[in-house]
Amino acid sequence: MPHRPIDLHAHSSVSDGTETPAELVAAAVAAGLGTVALTDHDSTAGWAEATRAVVGTGLTLVPGMELSTSLGMNSVHMLGYLFDPADPGLVAETARLRESRLHRAERIVERIAADYDISWADVLAQSTNGATLGRPHIADALVARGFAPDRSAAFAGILHWRSGYYEPHEAPSPMHGVRLIREAGGVPVIAHPATRGRSTNIPERAFDELVEAGLLGVEIAHRENTAAGAEKLRQLARRHDLIVTGSSDYHGEGKPNRLGENSTEPDQLARIVEAATGWAPVRG
Ligand code: AMP
Ligand code: FE
Ligand code: FE
Ligand code: ZN
Repeated sequence: MPHRPIDLHAHSSVSDGTETPAELVAAAVAAGLGTVALTDHDSTAGWAEATRAVVGTGLTLVPGMELSTSLGMNSVHMLGYLFDPADPGLVAETARLRESRLHRAERIVERIAADYDISWADVLAQSTNGATLGRPHIADALVARGFAPDRSAAFAGILHWRSGYYEPHEAPSPMHGVRLIREAGGVPVIAHPATRGRSTNIPERAFDELVEAGLLGVEIAHRENTAAGAEKLRQLARRHDLIVTGSSDYHGEGKPNRLGENSTEPDQLARIVEAATGWAPVRG
């Protein structure tokens, strides 16, 4: 019997998705998924609501997170699954990250406000209380003010890293991110490591360092990985015996990505569940 799709990367309004965790769960059920992972940026604040929402739906929830890390000029996203959300190391690091993102977003808005009629209050109006703030919320504020037709256009223009308004946020190294997730009993899977454009890609030799640090998996089927990049990743995964995943990176209406557009094989999810010691999937 064919299994229902497993989608291990989705965002809610706890970070830059446009749906609440409960709405995301409902969308995953409506899309016919068997399993969905909630992976908000630098926050586990949506786990409890999503856990309540899956009850009785037949959907399995894999609680997770997408941790922001950086390597030189490259922004590297590290997915973590089934870790202990109360782990002190991870709690401290994510609190620092959210704080640093907040101040960085304020500075970006200050710069934009010199040229466009936009304020910090406009950005807050586009986010839920305590959400992990980022450029997506600034994009929504620009759209609301009529300075861009949609998020993607705002990213291609005013929010582009070459626009003159941009600044990066501080983040730990991906190796440190991997260790934090492992220490919390979780399973680190590097997110979309072969995207086009400004490199979110890491050099191949850094991969060896990541594996040494405890990296367990790599997200290969993702719309932003290039075909050539994905082929290289498959070779790396074979060489290091890594778990291989595929996912949508759904952000509600914030991105064109649709739930289930890429998915993960059941044997790969089984490896994640087996490796995790911090938390368990929630079978609704
Ligand atoms: P930041 O972390 O604040 O620099 O913003 C990056 C976030 O914006 C990522 O998590 C993406 O999900 C989102 N993002 C990047 N490019 C786009 C785009 N073209 N349209 C919508 N969201 C985007
Ligand atoms: Fe995002
Ligand atoms: Fe990402
Ligand atoms: Zn994501």
